[in-house]
Amino acid sequence: MQIPLLDLKAQYKTIREQVLAQINEVLDSQQCIGGPKVEQLEKEIARVCRCEYAVGMSSGTDAILCSLMSLGIGPGDEVITSPFTFFATAGCIARVGATPVFVDIDPVTYNIDPSRIESAVTDKTKAIMPVHLFGQMADMDPIMQIAGQASLAVIEDAAQAISSTYKGRPAGSIGTCGCFSFFPSKNLGGIGDGGMAVTQDKELYQQLMIMRNHGSQPKYYHKFIGGNFRLDPIQAAALLVKLPHLDKWSAARRKNAAYYTKRFAGSPVITPVISEDCVSIFNQYVIRVPKRDSLLAHLKEKQIGCEVYYPVPLHLQECFAYLGKKEGDFPESEAAARQVLALPIYPELSDEMKACVVDTILTFLKG
Ligand SMILES: *Cc1c(COP(=O)(O)O)cnc(C)c1O
Repeated sequence: MQIPLLDLKAQYKTIREQVLAQINEVLDSQQCIGGPKVEQLEKEIARVCRCEYAVGMSSGTDAILCSLMSLGIGPGDEVITSPFTFFATAGCIARVGATPVFVDIDPVTYNIDPSRIESAVTDKTKAIMPVHLFGQMADMDPIMQIAGQASLAVIEDAAQAISSTYKGRPAGSIGTCGCFSFFPSKNLGGIGDGGMAVTQDKELYQQLMIMRNHGSQPKYYHKFIGGNFRLDPIQAAALLVKLPHLDKWSAARRKNAAYYTKRFAGSPVITPVISEDCVSIFNQYVIRVPKRDSLLAHLKEKQIGCEVYYPVPLHLQECFAYLGKKEGDFPESEAAARQVLALPIYPELSDEMKACVVDTILTFLKG
């Protein structure tokens, strides 16, 4: 049975007419930059995140980049983050000229281990950037406590975690700001690139608005060097159609996850652990197995989609060699990179498909 890791066509089928109608509205209006669709989406994302302010961005990456720029983080500054994440997290820190300082993960949740943060804080540290990996939020209370004591900003990389909660509070609402991605494979995915930054801080909001548009304020007067980080109204239009379905889609992912976890019980498969404090949106369902690469090859052969997020921890990436980190420096991240495997978890998976994924894996592991 052929089972893709993600089937975007299955979801599009259910909303096609509304998406086309919304896009047509944008085209007919010829409001091709900014405008009412972007503003409406900002308002609705702010509501979902229980934040005062939201700023549409051209991607999740640009939301992170623009947040760092708006907080004035740059050369000489250090930002603490996880090495077990998508490249953009640390890539943006380096792009503003700051130094990414990695702290190893908790091997159970794959999120930054708060107990290791304090010893990484120096007088150059300006911010902590926790990542809410795979849809589960990082342990925010101790992170906020350390940040408070050292007067650090907290930038939540919530690219994979929109509407996920920690102690009842939504992703993006706890830190100084939160960054979301609308990359098509995220729970709320656009029809191309898009992102959003949210904050409770009015001054930061104003700065994000300025930096999103070349640092211009008023128009053609530049006190700051910003960029073009604007969200496309066509993306906003498609996202406005999808947003009302987000909770239902995330619940369907949780249901799929519960099925997998139940079926894998008692097997050598290590299943995701969601903290009592958290509700995950399961952007990914990631298992852990010792013989990961042979299982991966077997599933590919059986045409079952799966993927390794992420095969190389960021401290071992060639572009970060200048940081001087080596194999063994972040053992939990390195072990995770060797053993994790993401399985199909998208909401439209059928019962038959889910059963086939589990049966194929359990049969292989017995053999
Ligand atoms: C997807 C993602 C990003 C980047 O988002 P884009 O919209 O693809 O630029 C950043 N961080 C994490 C953890 C992500 O998963």
